[in-house]
Amino acid sequence: MDIEEFRAQAHRFSDWMASYLAGIERYPVRSQVAAGQILKLLPESCPNGGESMDAIFADFERSIMPGITHWQHPRFFAYFSANSSPPSVLAEMLTATLGAQCMLWETSPAATELELRMMQWLRDLVGLPGEFSGCIQDSASSATLCAILAACNRASAGRFAQEGLAGGPPLVLYTSVDAHSSVEKGARIAGLGAANVRKIACVAEGGMDALALESAIAADRAAGRVPAAIVASFGTTGVGAIDPLADLAAIARRQQVYLHVDGAWAGSALILPEVRALAAGLEQADSFVFNPHKWLLTNFDCSAFFLRNPAELTAVLALTPSYLESAGAAHMPEYRDWSVPLGRRFRALKLWFVLRSYGADGLRELLREHLAWTRRLAQRIEQTPGFVLTTPPRLALLSFRYQPDAALSQAANDALNEALLQGINDSGALYLTKTRHQGRTVIRFMIGQTYTRWHHVEQAWDAIVQTARGLKTQSIP
Ligand code: PLP
Repeated sequence: MDIEEFRAQAHRFSDWMASYLAGIERYPVRSQVAAGQILKLLPESCPNGGESMDAIFADFERSIMPGITHWQHPRFFAYFSANSSPPSVLAEMLTATLGAQCMLWETSPAATELELRMMQWLRDLVGLPGEFSGCIQDSASSATLCAILAACNRASAGRFAQEGLAGGPPLVLYTSVDAHSSVEKGARIAGLGAANVRKIACVAEGGMDALALESAIAADRAAGRVPAAIVASFGTTGVGAIDPLADLAAIARRQQVYLHVDGAWAGSALILPEVRALAAGLEQADSFVFNPHKWLLTNFDCSAFFLRNPAELTAVLALTPSYLESAGAAHMPEYRDWSVPLGRRFRALKLWFVLRSYGADGLRELLREHLAWTRRLAQRIEQTPGFVLTTPPRLALLSFRYQPDAALSQAANDALNEALLQGINDSGALYLTKTRHQGRTVIRFMIGQTYTRWHHVEQAWDAIVQTARGLKTQSIP
């Protein structure tokens, strides 16, 4: 493709992009295709001759779009959002066009220096103390893995990076039963093994039981194992529970164990000063991650990772063969030493566009609306016969359960809620996901999509109630 055709196609694509976003409500939220349906539409081998962009684009619309779940749909209430925004997309277009691989300061000084500045902006916006330094990771999973690596190296006085774990006492990681699976995954990748991950019980209202944590640490020390890391949750994936960070920070200090806080979703809410009390103690952590790609209008991927002492991480990850020696190393961070991959995308650009375009106040206003609508929805649920609010609004996440008949067994009620969820998602009108809470299946409702307004939440609730009433007659004898 020559550059003049690129120009023409780029205009056409940007028109398509604007029309897609303007008309997104005409799509079913969750893709409605069956497994293998898209694969069948794709030729088994690569074409020998090049094809026209018109032909490729026609196939994109015909074969690919039906298999897309529309994360930017205003009735996307599933998982956590991966909310994007027009300024973020425009920046991504520039990033893709520049095509810079920003592994070193020298390979694009602006990328390193903008990332440095954006992490300072974000650190200040969420109220972290000035001694934290940040970098952008692809995901919270990667950031948590990096935190675990730093923790293991500290707990083994540097042996972890140089000699590995073999031959030494086992290192142990502590997290809660409700922590995200990425925590155990990180521990497995780091070589601790699942057997050295302690999943500490939670108290009734949610959040790690601090007393149980301290007992588990004591038991491990008595058995000759080395407590290496506590990974706390600021907003669990299931129901948004928050660990008692101040208590955990006190234990971490007393026991001299590294404390990492996973705030993948909820962390963005710390731009609201009124939310910060929920995270009291975070300022004492060794590291913290949250994802602007979940709730801060910056399209996937963009995960903000903050460390009190980045040297603890670079002690594990920094390697400088002569082909990577760079002019900037003495003056600027070399972010390649802060993450697992060497290559780095220019992710700071979209963050810069978003933060400048909305301003801190614009972002706060949107998040405050999400919190207010979640509280309003909770009232609706409580007023609707047959429905139970199973967890109250935690920031912009709540859970509920359809329980129309007290005589129904728990298993039958679980099945009914699974059927309700399937009915809702198969309708395409909205998208929700479930979790297990206190031994029961509950349906999560998360409000965080950029284009969601209150009337979308109302429409969604009406559709849920209607689907449930339809089920009742068929499913209950
Ligand atoms: N931690 C929590 C609490 C999450 O909710 C999630 C994903 O939803 C993750 C970690 C993983 O995030 P990522 O996809 O950025 O690795």
